[in-house]
Amino acid sequence: MKEINLLFTDLDSTILDENYSFKESAIETLQNAYSKNFVIVFTSSKTFKEEQHFAIKLGIPIIYTVENGSAIYIPENVFEKKSSKMGCRKIVLSSLSITYIRKILFRLQDIYSDLKFYENSSLDEIEKFTGLSPHLAKLAKMREYTETIFKGYSNRVEEDLISNGIFPQKGSRFVTIGDRTDKGKAAKKLMSFFKNNGYIIKRTIGIGDGPNDISLLKAMNEPYIIGDKITLERARVIEHFSEIHI
Ligand SMILES: [Mg+2]
Repeated sequence: MKEINLLFTDLDSTILDENYSFKESAIETLQNAYSKNFVIVFTSSKTFKEEQHFAIKLGIPIIYTVENGSAIYIPENVFEKKSSKMGCRKIVLSSLSITYIRKILFRLQDIYSDLKFYENSSLDEIEKFTGLSPHLAKLAKMREYTETIFKGYSNRVEEDLISNGIFPQKGSRFVTIGDRTDKGKAAKKLMSFFKNNGYIIKRTIGIGDGPNDISLLKAMNEPYIIGDKITLERARVIEHFSEIHI
């Protein structure tokens, strides 16, 4: 049996700052964890294409759980370091189509005219709402399972979404809506995947900062919280990545 460790991390306001750059020592910490037999798992509300953009900057193999636990992408090079195969296994947890979610949102827009989300926003507007660069805004718009509401979210909008089987999750900045899956469910699914493939998981570290990270942190043996937006009794609250015990 092969032994591995898993390190799940959120991106926005966790390893990335408000300008979407890596925070000080975040890259070194993840590279150090990788060298100590950790598989690094991005766990964010971002799209696959956005997560890939940040993984390239790290220069190590990454597993991607995308759009708040809607799907998991497992590249071949995570298992075989010298693999020339560019393939990616994919596990999908969401059973809602993006077309359905958008159809409901456009229907709600007729009632709540100030409602703004990716599909009814121009790239310019997305850049203004999110602070993303033009390139990243394009990657963020390539959504497969969820939508993000930038403006006009209210209790009534929430009720209407839920009555149509669409569920909201608050991230560090916006509300993302989709199927009733979450980062914790995706983490557990990935852990089962490793166990079913003959691995023993020794340690699980999770790092997050927003309400949508709670389910992830609860599923971890070693949960870490950055900042003061959330609390979890078992979790260690840290300011710098150097405080993470790798
Ligand atoms: Mg966050």
